[in-house]
Amino acid sequence: MAVNEVVLLYQVLVAKRKSKDSWELSSWRGTSIQECPAAKYSKKELADTEDCQMLTEIPVRDWEHCDAVPSTLSALIGVVVPGQLRKVETVFVVSDLQILGISSVKSETDEWLIASCVRCKRASPCSQHPDENTEKRLAIRLTLADGNSQCTVMLYHELLLKAAALMEVTLPEPPADSKDLRSTLRDMFRNAQWISRFTFKENDFQQSLELECRDIRSCLRLQPTVALMSPPDT
Ligand SMILES: [Zn+2]
Repeated sequence: MAVNEVVLLYQVLVAKRKSKDSWELSSWRGTSIQECPAAKYSKKELADTEDCQMLTEIPVRDWEHCDAVPSTLSALIGVVVPGQLRKVETVFVVSDLQILGISSVKSETDEWLIASCVRCKRASPCSQHPDENTEKRLAIRLTLADGNSQCTVMLYHELLLKAAALMEVTLPEPPADSKDLRSTLRDMFRNAQWISRFTFKENDFQQSLELECRDIRSCLRLQPTVALMSPPDT
């Protein structure tokens, strides 16, 4: 077999490697190797096939391309009734959003990065992996507004990195809670209008629904604002 040749492997042994989030394939006497048919060749085709499961990727829903119902923030906020949990599984899309502000997800401090467990990405200290290392991950609360309403949603590391990449904005690597990072993010959100996809998350603790942002991208990009008049000399 040549390097980079795509083949189909039937009947292989799959083992999850201990202590690592990876899988190992090995052959046994029932294994057969065949040339991969052209129809299955593209990665998408393989991923789409119902009986085919990607072992190395954590299965997540494709929020960017799934069906979504156009909505407004007012309509979505109206669904949230304090003290009442209702099941809402629809994905909603709201466009022409402006970001009015960014703040910390924590109420007691003003951090834009939180220490998280390297393995499961939950906030540290992690109850499941108490001995695991920690890393700093972005987590902010965005104040969003459309024509009629405003609300806040949390935005986490991956979505922020994705939005920055789409806006061709370079964030400091590794991320550090600096003036530079804050002004970069503020400018990025200020210089566009946004289209975002939401679902409702059940918050059992508060017995209420919460809006969860699943995807955010610019629908209208603007040049950075430039002051036309310089402040008078004093
Ligand atoms: Zn963990």
